[in-house]
Amino acid sequence: MCGIVGYIGKKEAWPILIKGLERLEYRGYDSAGVALMNPGEILVYKKKGKVSELSKFVKNKSDKNIGGTVGIAHTRWATHGEPSDVNAHPHLSMGGNIAVVHNGIIENYLSIKKVLIEKGYKFKSDTDTEVISNLIEDIVKSTKVSFDEAVRLALLEVVGAYAIAVLSKDDPETIVIAKKGSPVVIGIGDGEYFIASDATPIIEYTDKVIYLDDNEMAIIKNKKLVVKTIGNEIKNPYIQKLEMKIEELEKGGFPHFMLKEIYEQPRSIKDSMRGRESAKDGVVKLGGIESFQDKFFNAKRIIILACGTSWHAGLEAKYFFEEISKTPTIVEYASEFRYRNPVIYPNDLVIVISQSGETADTLAALNLVKEKGATVFGVCNVVGSSIPRATDAGVYTHAGPEIGVASTKAFTAQLTVLLLMCLLLVNKKETLNKKEIKKLLEELENIPEKVEKTLLCNEKVKKIAEKFKNIKNFIYLGRGYGFPLALEGALKVKEISYIHAEGYPAAEMKHGPIALVDENMPVVFIANRGKLYEKVVSNMMEVKARKGVVIAIITEGDENIKKIADFWIEIPETSDVLVPFVASIPLQLLAYHLASLRGCDIDKPRNLAKSVTVE
Ligand code: GLU
Repeated sequence: MCGIVGYIGKKEAWPILIKGLERLEYRGYDSAGVALMNPGEILVYKKKGKVSELSKFVKNKSDKNIGGTVGIAHTRWATHGEPSDVNAHPHLSMGGNIAVVHNGIIENYLSIKKVLIEKGYKFKSDTDTEVISNLIEDIVKSTKVSFDEAVRLALLEVVGAYAIAVLSKDDPETIVIAKKGSPVVIGIGDGEYFIASDATPIIEYTDKVIYLDDNEMAIIKNKKLVVKTIGNEIKNPYIQKLEMKIEELEKGGFPHFMLKEIYEQPRSIKDSMRGRESAKDGVVKLGGIESFQDKFFNAKRIIILACGTSWHAGLEAKYFFEEISKTPTIVEYASEFRYRNPVIYPNDLVIVISQSGETADTLAALNLVKEKGATVFGVCNVVGSSIPRATDAGVYTHAGPEIGVASTKAFTAQLTVLLLMCLLLVNKKETLNKKEIKKLLEELENIPEKVEKTLLCNEKVKKIAEKFKNIKNFIYLGRGYGFPLALEGALKVKEISYIHAEGYPAAEMKHGPIALVDENMPVVFIANRGKLYEKVVSNMMEVKARKGVVIAIITEGDENIKKIADFWIEIPETSDVLVPFVASIPLQLLAYHLASLRGCDIDKPRNLAKSVTVE
C-alpha cells in the first residue's frame, strides 16, 4: 500500500517523481505529494486525491518552483488520519528541516508523539508518519549527530512497519532510505539513483536494482551509496538485473488495465506453465522447489496461507491437493492464522500465496511458521519481493506486472502453478496413474486456447451486465471447484462495482442466504457439467421456485440449463479440475462491465490498494 518514489542525480526530479507516482498509483491514491530540495529549504507540494490532482494544483500555482534534482514523493493509502491535504505525505518536521515519505504503520507513534509534544513539538497532521520527521529533527538538534545517523537512531525507537525516504534541508545531496516490513527498491543509474516501492517507476531509467532487506537502510550521499543495517553494520548490497518490460506497464489500447489483464490470461497461463511440464512424458519439473522436493513429498499436511484473491486460489488448491494428490490440506487467512498460536508440525509443508509478494499478513504468517520449523514455499508474482526472499523455496507465477487493483490474471496464474505443484506430488505419490496424469497435463496445455475461446463471451456478458447495473445485491453459488469461484466472483463485483455480493457453497444457501431470494435477486451459478452437476441444478431449481433470477455459467451446449436459467454464458467443456481456469473469465468480465456501466474507477476502486503492506 502506498507508493514511495525518490530521485537524486543530475536530472530535474519533478517529472521523474510525478511519472513514478503515476506508475505506483495502483498502490494507493488517497492523496499525493512531493518534496523537492531547494537551496536552503525543502519545498513540499501535496494534495488530496489522485496524482493528477497534485499535478493540476501545482500547475495552477503562480509561485511554483519545481526545479531541483533531489526529491521524494508519495501516493497514499491512509491508515492514520483521513485522506486530506494536511495528512498527505511528505511530512515536514516542525522546523522544516526534515521531510519524510512513509509506507507502513508506526505502531508506537502515540508514545513518541507524547514525548515530542512535551519537548515543544507541534504536529499538523493526524498521521503516524509525522512523528518520524520530528523525531529525526529532534535527534539532530539534541545530539548533533549526522543526518543519516539521526535517521538510524530514530528508527531504533520506532516500532512497526515502514519503508521511508528522508530528506534533510542541511544535507542537500543526500537521501536516506530504510525498510522494515514494507518494500523499497533502489535503481542505480549513471551518477543517479531512483527509489521506489516497486520497480515499475525505475524500469525506464535503469535495469540495475538493489532490494533492501528488512532492518536495512541506504544512505545516498554525494553520488555514493552505502547500505547498512539499522544496527549499524555495513552491508555489501547485491545488485540485481530487472527482467520487466516497459510495455507491460502500459494499457496497450485497452480502456483499463483490468480488461487488458483479463485478456492477457491465455498468455499468462501459458507463461506460468512453460518449461515446467510435459504432457507427452507426463512429468512436471519445478526448479524453484527442487532442492526442497523431499520435504514436499514427505509432507503429512499442506497448510496454505494467503489473503483475498490469493486465498481463493489457495482454496481451489485445497481441492486439487486433497482430491488428486490425497494430501490433507488446510487453507487459512494469513491474518487469522498468525494470531491464533496455530499448531504446526515439522512435517507440515506451508505454501504462502501472494501476487505482490509483499502482503503484510502473509509475510508475518510466513515468518511465524518458519520460526516453528516448517518448510515454506512461496507462490508469488513479483520477482525479488519480500515473500520469495523469505521462503525456503517457491515457484513464481509468470503473469507479468498486474496493475489493475482487482486481481485477474494473477489468480489464474496462481491456479496454474498450484496445479503443477499438485501434479508433481501426484507423480511421486502415484495417486493417479501415468495415463491420467498425461491426460490432465494435456488438458492444462489446452487451457490457454480454451480461455481465448471463453473471452469471446465478452459482448454477451456486457449485455447481461446492462440488465443488472442498478441492482444492489448479488448471490454467487457453486459447489466443489465452483465454490471458491463463487467467492472470487462475488469479491470481484464488490471490489470494483461496489455492489454487495455474497459467495456461498450452493448447498449452504438453504441455511440462510435463500431467505434473500426474490424476484429482485440475481443469483450467479457456476454450473458446469461435472461431478456435482445435478446437485447444482437442484439448487438452481430451488432459486427459481422462489422467483430468483438465475445467471448460469454453463458448459457449452448445455440445453438443459438454457431452459431453466434466465441468462447463461457458455464455457468450453473441460474436466472439473480445470473449470476454475475458464469459468473465471465470465466472472471477471461481469464484474468489469458492471463497474464500467456504473461509471466506477475500475483500476483504482475506492478504499482499496493493490498490495496490502499493512496488517
Ligand atoms: N501510515 C501512514 C499514513 O496513514 C502511511 C500510509 C501509507 O502507507 O500510505 O499516512
